[in-house]
Amino acid sequence: MGGNSYLQVGPDFRVQGSCSPEQGVPSVECELLLCMNAIRVLALPLLSLLLLGWREPLSVQGVDQATLTEILHDMPKTEIHTHIEGAVRPETILELAPDYQVTLPANTVDGLKSHIQMRPGETLLDFLKKFDCFRFVFDHPESLRRISYELVEDTARENVIYTELRINPIKHPELLSVDGVLDAVIEGMDQACRDLQVEAGLIVSINRSYSVESAMQVAQAAVARMDRGVIGLDLAGDEAHHPVEKFKAVFDYAQAHHLHITIHAGEAAGPQSMAGAVEVCHAERIGHGVRLSEDPVLERMFQRRKIPLEMCPNSNLLINVVKDLPSYPLARYYHAGIPVTLNTDDRHIFDINLTGEYVAMARHNGLTLAELEDISLTGARVSFLPAARKAALIRRMEKRMAEFEARWRARLGR
Ligand SMILES: [Zn+2]
Repeated sequence: MGGNSYLQVGPDFRVQGSCSPEQGVPSVECELLLCMNAIRVLALPLLSLLLLGWREPLSVQGVDQATLTEILHDMPKTEIHTHIEGAVRPETILELAPDYQVTLPANTVDGLKSHIQMRPGETLLDFLKKFDCFRFVFDHPESLRRISYELVEDTARENVIYTELRINPIKHPELLSVDGVLDAVIEGMDQACRDLQVEAGLIVSINRSYSVESAMQVAQAAVARMDRGVIGLDLAGDEAHHPVEKFKAVFDYAQAHHLHITIHAGEAAGPQSMAGAVEVCHAERIGHGVRLSEDPVLERMFQRRKIPLEMCPNSNLLINVVKDLPSYPLARYYHAGIPVTLNTDDRHIFDINLTGEYVAMARHNGLTLAELEDISLTGARVSFLPAARKAALIRRMEKRMAEFEARWRARLGR
């Protein structure tokens, strides 16, 4: 290339040709050209900032706990890791029990909560027993429709615009088939989305203790409903004793049918479980991944490949996967550039909500409001929606986020 090669200024401001520093001190003419080029490179972003009205990010520093909770409740949110089984309202269990001639261990909401909610110091074994007294709600289409509807309603009440629900559809097949479970859940979810003007998708979950044959049947039922709201396949359960590799054929099948894949890993077992989920079973996202930091090489791989984590701080705390929230690695992963999202996992078993998870990360992980907004938007960016719906969701979230910011700037006078 000949001619005025010194006019070629790249984005990193390196100057080629006669103004190169290797060729001596630049002349006045040369400095002028450098200056003009710098102005040209900076002009567009500067003009954009002026036109759009650039402002400091809204800060919540110094606001009291109640106001912080109100702000984060109001913030538009996404949730992409929530199990229907762990999100059944205690009130609903009490109301439904007589319909199915079920005797519960308590007949008041508070009494029932003491049986179905996790308390500090309890173990994973205790967690699994929490479901014993209300498994009947998963055996009937009517109750499944109701609890699915109510989960979307619970998330919408705290300004969650988009939710990805998940359920393991093998309950009591002699009472209700896998197809029957999935169809009822889809009906309840869709009805709630229509009534509440929110969006949702269903992830079908496979338990690691299943045979490969049973898991394949679940995957086939999921694929058969991809045009009716099923957007992904998940693997959950005993991570330590049932390595992900056992299900390679099932996830090969899902991938071949373009069904998205997320896998619980790096929770009960170490980082090698996460590596298997990604490398062998095509996981696009990882459920939890809290133990990723134990393997710096794998952490760099997640950083490089931008593999999203569905993080659930209070779930991990209550099941003793982490010792406390200040040491929770969400902020570390976020600042390393790994896409992280915030989720409840099992909201009624843990007696938590999504707003509380955001408050916890603001208080204990030092995340700013701008960072929490980014984490909420990440849920839309890494959602399993088809491309056009995902783009529309991101636009809707950004618009709602701008309205939220304007509302709170006015209220806080900042
Ligand atoms: Zn989970």
